[in-house]
Amino acid sequence: MVPPTAPGIHIAGLVKKFKAGRREVTALDGVDIRSGEGEFVTLLGPSGCGKSTVLRILAGLEPQTAGEALVHGETPREMRRHDHLGIAFQEAALLPWRSVRTNIRLPLEVAKKKVDDDTIQELIDLVGLTGFENARPAQLSGGMRQRVAIARALVVLPKVLLLDEPFGALDDMTRQNLNIELLRIWTERPATTLMVTHGISEAVFLSDTVVVMSPRPGRVQKVVEIDLPRPRTPEMMRTTAFHDYVDLLSAVLFGAAPLASGVGA
Ligand code: ADP
Ligand code: MG
Repeated sequence: MVPPTAPGIHIAGLVKKFKAGRREVTALDGVDIRSGEGEFVTLLGPSGCGKSTVLRILAGLEPQTAGEALVHGETPREMRRHDHLGIAFQEAALLPWRSVRTNIRLPLEVAKKKVDDDTIQELIDLVGLTGFENARPAQLSGGMRQRVAIARALVVLPKVLLLDEPFGALDDMTRQNLNIELLRIWTERPATTLMVTHGISEAVFLSDTVVVMSPRPGRVQKVVEIDLPRPRTPEMMRTTAFHDYVDLLSAVLFGAAPLASGVGA
């Protein structure tokens, strides 16, 4: 049953408390996030504010203490059961003894689904790893390993994509290139996406909506709609509109007055 209020992400009053010995840590204290179907939403916020916890709950890896977490009206358990979820985290977590090709097709094997070699090859081409089909993870750069992780996340044709700082461990240049690639891939394989990042310009570049979280206990501090046209291009990062969004988000995150006026003022 799809609640009429929730075409995309529907997170409402989400609370998560962790037991740490005899203490209780409140990681999320009533988080609300809404999005339309097929939108790209990023979560931005200081370390420890609960970004990964939101994603882990949506991925069904962690139960919430209270509140709702649905995408397209489905619970994490339903999304998993229907293979609607694609997940890529900061650590690519590839199986070292498997090749690029066999790492990418792993989710299909786990789901006992038919493996179509042409589709796998298409994905390998899509993420720019043509020619590396038989390479092992140890033979790849960090950026290439994350490309494999993205391809593996896409192999089930997910309707929902959850990305937790997928390029966070990479240098700036590689990260920027991979963000551009990610947008291209996302345009070809649309999915309702929630991505965690700590990069402000990365968030502006990629998103329809940026959700800024406050320090622990995590709450939503501000929601900023990014009203830049698509397709996004690297040139856009030099426009005034782009810089206004970066200023606004920096001000929210670091508590400074925005340098530019206009956006969100
Ligand atoms: P972020 O991804 O924004 O850096 P996390 O979601 O990883 O933050 O963590 C949010 C808070 O919850 C932190 O204070 C962290 O220490 C705590 N936390 C996360 N996972 C656990 C866990 N399994 N047990 C206890 N505390 C946890
Ligand atoms: Mg995290």
